[in-house]
This record gives sequence, structure tokens and C-alpha cells, in this order.
Amino acid sequence: MSALNGNIRAVRERIERACAKAGRKPEEISLVAVSKTMSAERVLEAHAAGLSLFGENRLQEALPKIEAVSEAVEGEVTWHMVGHLQRNKVKKAVAVFDMIQSVDSYDLAVEIDRRSRETGKTMDVLVEVNTSAEETKFGGRPQDTVDLVERMSHLNGIAVRGLMTIGAFTEDEGTVRRCFVALRELARKTQEAGISGVEMRYLSMGMTSDFELAIEEGSNMVRIGTAIFGPRQVC
Ligand SMILES: *Cc1c(COP(=O)(O)O)cnc(C)c1O
Repeated sequence: MSALNGNIRAVRERIERACAKAGRKPEEISLVAVSKTMSAERVLEAHAAGLSLFGENRLQEALPKIEAVSEAVEGEVTWHMVGHLQRNKVKKAVAVFDMIQSVDSYDLAVEIDRRSRETGKTMDVLVEVNTSAEETKFGGRPQDTVDLVERMSHLNGIAVRGLMTIGAFTEDEGTVRRCFVALRELARKTQEAGISGVEMRYLSMGMTSDFELAIEEGSNMVRIGTAIFGPRQVC
């Protein structure tokens, strides 16, 4: 038996412990298995082990993988785009993903809206916010979030379902936690703005190194790669 089953069980236990500590229910937490760099076979193994929601960060890599997985287990797997998306790749992304978590500009939203309407779809999206102010990260500025969501709310081909962030890359727990608190507060502010058609349903935050902290601070969607699939080959 592969290590995958044990890894998944360990991740679920970590989620349960974090929920217990925060007085929350594990059923509230969606687990996105980030399968970037992993083969379609690995995804199918993970699916057989009970996972059904996968995240990818590069369209070129995701397209053949999603096709292969779909052929094997049609309709049983959901895909989220979690990486930076270029506008010229939106058409293909809209065709294969169920949610785009990495919308960080109005221009990108407009293109997703246009391509979604062309295919008669409404694309669920999250607005990615750069809560760590690290320059290497994508994501909109926190102070622009409510405005951005308001403008996006007029685009009929997309539905804003919440916010996403990547915590600061540091060992310092306080710094990471502040990123998650910032996203939670932004979601609250956005919800309170009462923007028509917008519901802050998902708070996507927390990865292998910091998902317990994220859950303590209100995350209900964790994106986990390494703890499930093991280390990635550096390319
Ligand atoms: C790779 C990636 C993850 C998962 O990272 P791990 O540390 O391997 O759990 C989560 N979110 C995004 C946006 C990623 O690119």
C-alpha cells in the first residue's frame, strides 16, 4: 500500500486536532489536495484513497492531467486553479476548472467573465490577497479588496465566493498568523459591505506548514500538497 493513505489520514487527524482546539467542526473544512508536479496516476491513487478536490497551479501542466483523470473517473473529481493565471490562458482554464482561486486584478476578472459567458458558465472565483506584503507574491493589496469585489460583482459570468491568501514564508508564527487574521477581517469587511450577489463563503488559507494556524484563524479551505503527496521534485 502506498504512503498516500497514511499521509491523508495524518492530514485529516491534524485538521481534526486544529478544529478541536478552535472549537470548530472538521466537516466545515474543505481539503484541496494540491497535486502540482504529481502525475495523473498519483491523483487517481489519491482519489481512490478518498480525495475528490484537487488544486493545480500551472495550466500547461494541469490540462493533460485533468483530461487523463477525467477519462478514468468522469465527474468524480473537482479542480481548483490556485496559481497565477495569465490572461491569454483564461479560455482554457475556464474550460477545465471548477473554481479559480487566484483572481487578483479586475482585468483578469473581466477576461474570466468574458470567457465564462461565451461557454454559458458562471465561474466561481476567490479573490487572492497578498496579506504578507512579500513582493514575490501575487495577490491584490488588502486595502483594494472590497472595491475589487464590488467591481467584480457586476460581472455576470463570475461569482465571487470568498478570499484566498498564501501566508508569509517564515517560521515566525506571529507573522504567519497575522496574514490569516488579516484575510478573515477582510472577508468580514467585504461581507458587511453587503455587495449584491457576493457571499464570503470560503476563506482559502493554510498549506502544509501552516494549516493548523489557518484553521485556528477561521480558514474553511486548506490547500495541501506536500503533507499528502510527499516532497515535490524541484525543477
Ligand atoms: C503549492 C501550493 C500549495 C500547497 O503547498 P504545500 O506546502 O506543498 O502544502 C498551496 N497553495 C498554493 C497556491 C500552492 O501553489
